[in-house]
Amino acid sequence: MALSGNLEKYSGLVDTQFKNSEIALKFSERNSFDNKEELAAFLYNCNMKDLLSLSSTARSKFNSDSRIITYSRKVFINLINLCKDSCSYCTYKKEPDDSGAVMLSPAQALAIAEAGRRAGCTEALIVTGERPETIYPQAKTWLNNLGHKNLSELISDLSEQILKKTGLLPHTNAGSLTKSEMANLKSTNVSLGLMLESSSDRLLNAGEAHEKAPSKIPKVRMKSLIAAGELNFPITTGLLIGIGESFEEIIDSLILINEINKKYGHIQEVIMQNFLPKVGTPMEYSNSPTFTYFLRCVASARLILQNISVQVPPNLSPSIYARYLDAGINDWGGVSPLTPDYVNPECPWPTIKELRETTSNKGYVLRARLPLYPQYLIDPLLQTKFVDPSLKGYIEPLVDNYGLVKEDNIKDEY
Ligand code: SF4
Repeated sequence: MALSGNLEKYSGLVDTQFKNSEIALKFSERNSFDNKEELAAFLYNCNMKDLLSLSSTARSKFNSDSRIITYSRKVFINLINLCKDSCSYCTYKKEPDDSGAVMLSPAQALAIAEAGRRAGCTEALIVTGERPETIYPQAKTWLNNLGHKNLSELISDLSEQILKKTGLLPHTNAGSLTKSEMANLKSTNVSLGLMLESSSDRLLNAGEAHEKAPSKIPKVRMKSLIAAGELNFPITTGLLIGIGESFEEIIDSLILINEINKKYGHIQEVIMQNFLPKVGTPMEYSNSPTFTYFLRCVASARLILQNISVQVPPNLSPSIYARYLDAGINDWGGVSPLTPDYVNPECPWPTIKELRETTSNKGYVLRARLPLYPQYLIDPLLQTKFVDPSLKGYIEPLVDNYGLVKEDNIKDEY
């Protein structure tokens, strides 16, 4: 699945001295790249100033009002953090005896959602490890005691309660779900989350990041992304940059995501996430991507992903995240005024006040969005196709004519 060859082999195809207009022309005529390798080499070698100019222009074409940068005001419901897989960079996964192991009761989850409602949140992000009940008897007992056979059944039930009792809109990230499991969530979740991470099969090899994570087999993840498309279920995906993949493999991943979206139109957002090594993991001493390399990856994402939002999490680049606006991003993702980022607990989110000021200082306007992107709300045809009728009554009171959260729903800043 990954690209073959190396960048040196194709560097002769790329004239790094292109004037900006020539570069723009090359991108406007997408067929001018004979193959993925040529495109990767071009993006790798293009001088940064021209690349950022191109990707900023691409954002203007993507966004009808390119001044607006969005975020989703959320609470993070860490439902169960046991996981059958073991990715080499992960500290989210816990063992049942760890002090940080979590198996929430529905009452605890609802209390978090209710606190979010009071803080003006609109998203209930429900996160779990990958199929924990398949290897941990404790997880199976937890589910059975709650009267459920599997995790998607519990999430469906919990999502319905969150909707009815708090009005927050559920968005679930529970790993590689089957098509029927996703279908089970369609009437209670406005969208799903599933990181592709990378299309590189190489990362499954011994010593690589996904050696012990069969759910991260690219074909498995792609199957879930395609199943969501067949269900007209909006979904967020993303790449984790710096876990051993090559630049060519990043470009390959972006092209694959774009191709799936061209067929189904359901991929609302791609998260470009920079890897940060975590103490105590097998990748503790691996390097993070450098700022300029990651900036190049983000700009490349904006250029390849034609109709998909591009997001960079601000908490993973605390002092420099504003610079990613220069690469054409249009979203900061979910930001919580209440709950930590349980996947990166060492990286607190900026306050929403700070995020607003930082965005404004670069000349943009921060607006809250739902965990469902505006295009699925303002276009009647897309709404009919992608929004389950049972969710419309919860969504409509929250949004304005642009499909963004009504300003009067935004409470005091946190
Ligand atoms: S990254 Fe996700 S799939 Fe991998 S070990 Fe952590 S929780 Fe499990």
